Amino acid sequence: MSDRNSIFDIEVNPKTVTVITTYTCNAACEECCFECNPTVKHRLSFEEIATFIKNSVAEYPSIEQFVFSGGECFLLKEDLYKAIALCASLGRSTRCVSNGYWGKTRHKAEKIAATVVEAGLAEVNFSTGLDHKKWVPIDSVITASECLAKYGIPVLITIEKDTEESDILNQITENERVRRLSHSFPNFSLQTNSWMPFHENSVHRGGVDRSTLRKGCDQVFTNCVLTPKKEIASCCGLTLEHIPEMRVGTIDNVASYRDEQKDDFMKLWLRVEGPMTILETLLGRDHEKLQDVVHLCQACAIVHQDHEVREKIASAYTDHILAVGHKWNIIKTAELEASK
Ligand code: SF4
Ligand code: SF4
Repeated sequence: MSDRNSIFDIEVNPKTVTVITTYTCNAACEECCFECNPTVKHRLSFEEIATFIKNSVAEYPSIEQFVFSGGECFLLKEDLYKAIALCASLGRSTRCVSNGYWGKTRHKAEKIAATVVEAGLAEVNFSTGLDHKKWVPIDSVITASECLAKYGIPVLITIEKDTEESDILNQITENERVRRLSHSFPNFSLQTNSWMPFHENSVHRGGVDRSTLRKGCDQVFTNCVLTPKKEIASCCGLTLEHIPEMRVGTIDNVASYRDEQKDDFMKLWLRVEGPMTILETLLGRDHEKLQDVVHLCQACAIVHQDHEVREKIASAYTDHILAVGHKWNIIKTAELEASK
């Protein structure tokens, strides 16, 4: 919903760039949001990543951190290490998101941890849980965590929400090595994440308190994303590849992140009110389409894919422009005050 004569001129100053380096993964988790597995071949070359890093820093001095994810970004090996070093040389922080497969042997894990820390890596998030552990043993994740935590950098293990039958979160929190990590390294932490199904026959993992989904999406305008398909995206959402409107440009035009969004009311609405509030406003809180929604990105997919919702947006969005614009001004003023 971009209008070149729009009353909006939204400031788009991303703080984060996420480089989804590859959709190849050593694992093939059933509910992987990008359907990654060892046979998927989309990946960025080092030259593409390096050029994008340099161009995005030149275009957006506001960028504070580069996040490398996938697929499995550690499969890039030297290319990943060089990309981390490049970001560090530009004064930017870095984070890697990994499934921890490289912690299979301590010798190998020690070597890789030393290499990435030497390159300048600032923090790591590991993903594990019920689906992940079919491909990567939890012991590998713990070993990789041990090897990195000793350098003092933040290490976070994110665990998939359990099913009614599974108990992975407890198994990990009660693991003796994990307890030692928590006790010895203040920068080591664990969290469980919200989980969303991607298939009709997915085993349900419980609902969520609907009120937690009534919030704006803070990825919009703040996280500039490069995908392995060489596209620039608005966000790194779980349903990103299912929402064409989230793709705003191609790798050779980093300015598109700003140019294609600065007058896009739909993006502003998502940023300010969020997809769940938009759906509840348009359909009513008790609408059947909303009953099984457990994740913001799931609501976002409905906003963009559902025919009825799209028609309602097209006919009603102008009624919301003033209120959303007003709330955006309040958010920006609060951010400005907080930064003083
Ligand atoms: S480890 Fe992550 S990227 Fe790889 S298949 Fe599983 S969910 Fe997807
Ligand atoms: S809610 Fe929508 S805009 Fe936000 S991260 Fe998810 S898909 Fe992207």
